[in-house]
Amino acid sequence: MKEVLVLGAGYAGLKTVRNLQKESGDFHITLVDMNDYHYEATELHEVAAGSQPKDKITYPIRDVLNDKKVTFLQDEVTKIDPANKLVSVKKNGSLHYDYVVVALGFCSETFGIKGAQENALQMVDIDTAEAIHQHIIAMMKKYKETKDKNYLKLLICGAGFTGIELAGAFVDERKKYAQIAGVDESEIEIICVEAATRILPMFDDEMAQYGVNLIKKLGVNLMTGCMIKEIRPGQVVYAKGKDDPEEHVVEAATIVWTTGVSGSPVIGESGFEQRRGRVMVKPNLTAPDYDDVYIIGDVSALMDSASNRPFPTTAQIATRMGAHVATNLAHQLKGEATEDFDFKSLGTVASVGNTHAFGVVGTKKIKGYPASFVKKAIMNKSLVDIGGLKELLAKGRFDLYH
Ligand SMILES: Cc1cc2nc3c(=O)[nH]c(=O)nc-3n(C[C@H](O)[C@H](O)[C@H](O)COP(=O)(O)OP(=O)(O)OC[C@H]3O[C@@H](n4cnc5c(N)ncnc54)[C@H](O)[C@@H]3O)c2cc1C
Repeated sequence: MKEVLVLGAGYAGLKTVRNLQKESGDFHITLVDMNDYHYEATELHEVAAGSQPKDKITYPIRDVLNDKKVTFLQDEVTKIDPANKLVSVKKNGSLHYDYVVVALGFCSETFGIKGAQENALQMVDIDTAEAIHQHIIAMMKKYKETKDKNYLKLLICGAGFTGIELAGAFVDERKKYAQIAGVDESEIEIICVEAATRILPMFDDEMAQYGVNLIKKLGVNLMTGCMIKEIRPGQVVYAKGKDDPEEHVVEAATIVWTTGVSGSPVIGESGFEQRRGRVMVKPNLTAPDYDDVYIIGDVSALMDSASNRPFPTTAQIATRMGAHVATNLAHQLKGEATEDFDFKSLGTVASVGNTHAFGVVGTKKIKGYPASFVKKAIMNKSLVDIGGLKELLAKGRFDLYH
């Protein structure tokens, strides 16, 4: 019997398993993840802000597996040895495979900026998102004791897609934070520090400007053109452009790092040729030198021939890659040829809190309240795609305006 090993139960890995377990044939799947639950990484900012409890965006991995076909192993992957078809995991030693699917996802990228890891809060999984929320609550309580205004400041490093969505979620929760601190909500300051002067490159000028105007209108202090040089405890040090010799400082008791992500460090540890934890995969999604190693989701880079640049890493492409790999594995297990992956983005919609959003679906631009409805529908579709209808029903996400 052939052994298929799937590493990571995020969008890419879990979609692979969900589809492959429906195929007949003489094979067994082992799925490894360090958590026993799947989480929707696209909603982490809501847990960080406190708009959603973690159980709204998580479900047990075993709930969606066919245990006749799949064994789930809760363990941490440390290294892949493609030459010997082995994977090292922390608790269970070595796992042998005939085919492996590497879908270990993203981690925070600090670009070597001093103090970013130590002095800023990261938002990369459920634990770190929950830690942000707990930190904010603690800071609001500290304000009550000390009346130091820095405790009322929430500073986001980076105004990319994630930073903007987090800022929007903070705006929504401002009232609750203010109640804890015993102040008016206007006293809660939300700041976004960003090096670029033109943000949101995934959108055209008009749509990006709409996003900028929206978050400013909601009261976010958007500091663009500010290059972060260092994070000190409670301080972000920045320069106003490349040639600015001066050191500028903005203070805040809550500093969250959302400037970028890279692929899992396991990719580098395993000796794959990579850049920022991502492997440039072949059109059928296998690793350059190995037909039995698939690399998908945020640990992969796939060229978009239209733009001549790699596709952005998103949950959308990760899920589609997962489905494609299940098809290719089914072919390989029957001794058939694999197919090349073809991707066309369905669009991108950024949420700014619970009732605002903007973006593009197909070729149509959408804004405001209707866009926020579309965004929630996309998230629900994603939940059904990976977890099935059962998980959507369990999460009770028909209340689109929680
Ligand atoms: C706040 C936020 C908002 C976003 N919004 C959108 C959006 O609107 N649309 C969109 O398309 N994309 C969005 N993204 C990007 C999207 O979340 C990622 O591209 C997507 O999660 C990648 O999926 P993946 O399956 O590759 O990895 P992940 O979702 O990161 O899953 C990786 C899995 O691997 C497991 N794992 C990691 N390391 C190990 C290890 N060493 N051993 C064992 N298990 C391990 C993890 O526990 C996890 O289950 C957003 C991201 C963030 C943070």
